[in-house]
Amino acid sequence: MAIKVRCTCGTEYDLKDEFAGRKVECPQCRRVIEVPGSRVPEFGHPAFNRDKFLLRQKRISISEKYYVWDEDENTILFVVRPAHLFRNLLAAFMTVAFFMVSSGSLIALGVAAAKQLSIPEAPFVIAGLFFSLLGAAFVAVALIKKRHVTFYAEESAQTKLLEVFQDKKFEFIKATYTVNDAEGNCVAKLQKNYLYNFFRKRWYCLAPDDSILCLAKEDSVILSLLRRFLGTFFGLLRTNFIIVLPETDEVIGEFNRKFTLFDRYVLDMTADPGRKLDRRVAIALGIMLDTGERR
Ligand SMILES: [Zn+2]
Repeated sequence: MAIKVRCTCGTEYDLKDEFAGRKVECPQCRRVIEVPGSRVPEFGHPAFNRDKFLLRQKRISISEKYYVWDEDENTILFVVRPAHLFRNLLAAFMTVAFFMVSSGSLIALGVAAAKQLSIPEAPFVIAGLFFSLLGAAFVAVALIKKRHVTFYAEESAQTKLLEVFQDKKFEFIKATYTVNDAEGNCVAKLQKNYLYNFFRKRWYCLAPDDSILCLAKEDSVILSLLRRFLGTFFGLLRTNFIIVLPETDEVIGEFNRKFTLFDRYVLDMTADPGRKLDRRVAIALGIMLDTGERR
């Protein structure tokens, strides 16, 4: 949507929504005009002050990188997510190794004890397996790295603008991530609830005081169910999300991963021209929807 402005000199022009409530200079007569409408909020760095973000992922062996563009194809943000490939391979190896050694020795001990006491061996074998599995789960959780995504203003990663941290390595049913601004202040929390995963995936955006800012859910129930059975179906069923306000369910944005030639995703917040949702939170959510969900 554009705002029509008419200067006292007669010149008319269309301005972008972001000029609402601001003062602009008429290019013809140099008079200062006040643009009608209320000023939309700004969110720190100019990169965040827009409604449409184009995302493209680049996978570079050890980490995932995203380029975020504006509508005119200027790169405005660089996003890095270390994949910790070696660390996670090591974690998987150590977990399996622990299980083999632990179950092998516990079962051997149990069987020997059962023989000595002339009682059935089965309970000892089951107990040995159970405690080894439990131990292996602890080893895995201890060694796996938490997720950490950083947003930079330039590719050389000098100016950090935003960070997303996984709160805990293990949480029951859900996963929580904290979004911090450049100064380390919490802007929002993103929470995924695994209970909804089968039916219709959803993520919650929470304010620092835990009130719900918005939620992202799969675009349709029918498509959600089809995806569970058919996967992405050669890219045709890629998971798209809509972003809605709590209670009213008013759609304020969408995250679209439809197949395009350059494999770009679009985070479109034009349905929220007043910027009720902080764009830093919106783009953090977009990246998490992409890295945290299978395509
Ligand atoms: Zn004028």
